[in-house]
Amino acid sequence: MRAVAFTVDVDRDVNLACQGDICSISNGGKHPRFTSSAKGLELIAGLLEEMGVKGTFFWEGRTAEVLSEKMDLKGLMRRQEVALHGYDHEDFAGKETGIPLDRENTGSTLDKGTEALDRVFGEGARGFRAPYQRVTDILLDELRARNFLYDSSDTVELVEGKVRPYRNKNGLPEIPVCWSRDGRGKKIVSYLWPYHEGKRPIADYLEMVDNFQDGLLVIATHSWHPVESYCSGLRTKEDTNRDMADLRTLLDHIDRSGCALMGIANHMRRKDAL
Ligand SMILES: [Zn+2]
Repeated sequence: MRAVAFTVDVDRDVNLACQGDICSISNGGKHPRFTSSAKGLELIAGLLEEMGVKGTFFWEGRTAEVLSEKMDLKGLMRRQEVALHGYDHEDFAGKETGIPLDRENTGSTLDKGTEALDRVFGEGARGFRAPYQRVTDILLDELRARNFLYDSSDTVELVEGKVRPYRNKNGLPEIPVCWSRDGRGKKIVSYLWPYHEGKRPIADYLEMVDNFQDGLLVIATHSWHPVESYCSGLRTKEDTNRDMADLRTLLDHIDRSGCALMGIANHMRRKDAL
């Protein structure tokens, strides 16, 4: 089985964790912003809809609340999978904030995020990806206790073309992003961050797809990234259009190379998924 999940973290623009502050801000300011995320979301969701591809969108609770005031998010996600990505883009492990979330705060954050998504999208079982891909044992346990379908925060190596979901030590399914080596022996991760920041061509990711032979390849990006760069600020319309054309090329390539593009939850329903 060669399955590919195209995943999008829908969070505050160019998010940044701050020392001493649980709530993340947008890079270059003191508060979170959401406009680039909103624009990019419309573009990416529109592309997937047009191509008939079901993606998995990891929503930050606050972003869903803010964007739902001006956009028909439920309509936009009609054929997409909705999963959770924290409430205020929390750094659960406290690596950058210096404030690791204890059991009580971890649980209440998951509940607050879930309630926000329930209000915006309707109730349902969901998967989870941690902001900054930083998990703790407490977080994994609290996800398990709340019957989340899976976590998708880990990054594992693509070994001999294979990458598969596995079970965490507490039994929760883990759907990892992966890394491998490019033609020059340099590490490449299936998160498109370096692509959007102009540090890798999309061709590198087409090659990664070609090297993938079995399991579930999780490709990840952020809703705001075609619209705003982490390092150089707001991007030009031409840059945004080029990114969207490249994402189309990538999805086309995945499809034409015989991989099945599907939401993670759909893949997990297969008997041989784990
Ligand atoms: Zn995020």
